[in-house]
Parts: sequence; C-alpha cells; structure tokens
Amino acid sequence: MTAVAVTEQEWPAGWAGEVVVDLGAVRENAAALAERAERAAVMAVVKADAYGHGLVPGARAALAGGASWLGVAQLEEALALRAAGIGAPVLCWLFAPGQDLAPAVAAGVDLSASSPGAVAQAADGAARAGRPARLHLFVDTGLGREGAPPAAWPDLVAAALAARAEGAVEVVGAWSHYAWADAPEHPTVHRQTALFREAVALAEAAGARFAVRHLANSAATLTNPDARFDLVRPGLAVYGLSPVPDLGGPARFGLRPAMTVRARLALVKEVPAGHGVSYAHQYTTTAPTRLGLVPLGYADGVPRSASGAGPVRVAGGRTRVAGRVCMDQFVVDLAGLPGAGTARAGDEVVLFGDGRYGAPTAQEWAEAAGTISYEVVTRMSARLPRRYVGEAP
Ligand SMILES: *Cc1c(COP(=O)(O)O)cnc(C)c1O
Repeated sequence: MTAVAVTEQEWPAGWAGEVVVDLGAVRENAAALAERAERAAVMAVVKADAYGHGLVPGARAALAGGASWLGVAQLEEALALRAAGIGAPVLCWLFAPGQDLAPAVAAGVDLSASSPGAVAQAADGAARAGRPARLHLFVDTGLGREGAPPAAWPDLVAAALAARAEGAVEVVGAWSHYAWADAPEHPTVHRQTALFREAVALAEAAGARFAVRHLANSAATLTNPDARFDLVRPGLAVYGLSPVPDLGGPARFGLRPAMTVRARLALVKEVPAGHGVSYAHQYTTTAPTRLGLVPLGYADGVPRSASGAGPVRVAGGRTRVAGRVCMDQFVVDLAGLPGAGTARAGDEVVLFGDGRYGAPTAQEWAEAAGTISYEVVTRMSARLPRRYVGEAP
C-alpha cells in the first residue's frame, strides 16, 4: 500500500477496517480531569463499552490516569469489571424491578436508588448476598429522568435510613444529574445545584452521612467548579472529546481523542463523467474520475445519516462520502485529491481520529450526521475489531 502517514499505525495482516484506541490518551485525559477536579475524586464513566472504546481496557487506563471510581449504567457492565479483576469502587445506576441485585451486592458494586422500591430491591439482594448493599440516593433536581423528585426525596431518605438501621444497606452517596450541563450559564444549572444542596442538607438532618455527593458530568467538570462536590463523573471527556463543542474542542480542555476509525480501500476504479454512485444515485460524477470503495457501512457504525456528508482523509487529502452509506460500504470520489492518480486498493482511509495529520474528528462526523460525538463513538459496532495502542509500559 501507499504509505499515507495519517495514523502512524501499521495494519494487522488481513484487516479491512479497525477501531484503534489510544489508551495513553485515555490515561492522560483522566489525569487532566483529575487535575481539573482539584479536591474532588474522579469517577470515570465506562458504560456502553467505555463509549465504544472497550470496557475493561478503557477502565484500566482511566484508573491508571488517576480516576478512582468507575461508573456504569448496567449490572452486566459492573460485573464484567469485577470479573476482569478490577476492584475499584463501581457505581451502577440502572436496573429494572425484578432484576436480581445479589450478584452485584456480592461483588461490592454500589447501586443507585431512585425510589423506596429500589431500596427494598437492594435490601433483598443484600439479604441473599450476605452483606449490606451500598446505595447512592438519586434526587431528581430537574432532569426529569432518574431520581426521586424533591417531593418524594424525604420518603426515599427515610426508606434508606430504615434499611440502614436493619443492617441491610449502607448509604454511601447522594447524587443527581444536570439537564443543561453543556450550557453552564443556563438558569436550570444554578437551580439544580441549589436543589441538590437542599436535598443533601435535608437528608443529613434526617441522619444520613454521605461519603460522596456528586453531580457533575464531563461538561460540568470542565466548565462549572460549583458542581464538583466530592466526586465528578466525566464520561465523554475521558475519551478525549469535547462535551461543549460550541465552547471549545478537546485541546482547549487539555484532552486528546482516543479513538481512530480507519479502513483500507477495497477497490479503486475508473468511471466516466455522469456515473451515478451508490443507492438511488444521490451522487453523480462530474468528470472522468477514480472512485474508492471503503469497506465500512452502517452495520459497522458509520451513520447512514452522514450519507453525502461524512468527511474522510484519503489519497493525501480530504473528501466526503459520495452518495449513500450502505450497510457494509460506502464510496469516495478521489477527484481533486493529491494522491488520486496513484491511489490503489489497500490504501488507508481515515474516518476520524485525534485530528492530527488533517484527519477529521468524531465531532465533524457528528455534525455531518446531525448528532453528537457521543453517538458517533458509542455506535461503532462490535463488527469492527478494536486494537489498543499506547498502553502503560
Ligand atoms: C452518562 C452519564 C454520565 C457521563 O456523562 P458525560 O456527559 O459523558 O460526561 C454521568 N452521569 C450519569 C448519570 C450518566 O448517565
């Protein structure tokens, strides 16, 4: 293949495409967040396979960088961390009525409780696990998602303290989540912070003693010192993406994107002017040209909504997806690119990376697809192999 020094990464033999995850970037991002959090500890949020970066490698790299907690949405994610031998505190925040919490309690996984029913479910798991469940009481200060609304908060606190008195639970944390953290001056941010303080004070007056009070996601960690409390919960920023692209890119916050998605051209061919490209011919060549076939499609996580728009680096320059993204592939028109004449099958195509060497970023793909960078990295499917670089020596 032509050497195109975009990623500096050799190709594993036989691979057509891959997700390269720079664990050094994850580690350094966690360190940058720990420094910014000052006295607050960092919970690296590693739900959804560490936002597509790989649950266990992502978690280990974040811990190596200075995170001291891990956060996940699902019980299976928490148990997978424990099964890998990771002993750091883990908070898991979503489970359904009827799900058995005994394995999580037995594994020392902290659980979120939004209602007295969840406290009872955790106490039931504790009875069978033979140890108390560790609870973080969730107050809904305005997001309207998980959590007890302020009117229901006293009942949640009372239920948790009653279960504590029976030895069934430990009340470890109080927490909440912002609706508008990416707009730090939004009035709801101030209101939610004030309501959180009131809820904590009310619970403490009732006898709760929280080891950790936590409210800040990535955006609040980066932009709102008032939101730090004892612990911050960044997810996206750990992977080097900006949660507030309107306020600044990753570099502005000392972060570096960890994920690169790239492929090798499966085919390069000559076509005449006026040739339709991909389903429904949404792109037509305007001159005799060379087309490159990229063997990645929406089944791999390339958003179909980025048809005609998703940026790539190929043949020494930048172009966009020509026409529709298909299930397994899309096409690029090499017209006008510096290396168009010499491009051939096997050459590297970079969809996005850390922004060096002129490669696009996940944020640019988000804009092309009408979504957020969270979705771009998280949806990269298991079909695309992950390869890890930059590990600690
Ligand atoms: C996903 C999530 C986070 C992390 O959010 P980022 O915006 O990725 O930093 C923090 N807290 C809760 C409750 C979450 O669901």
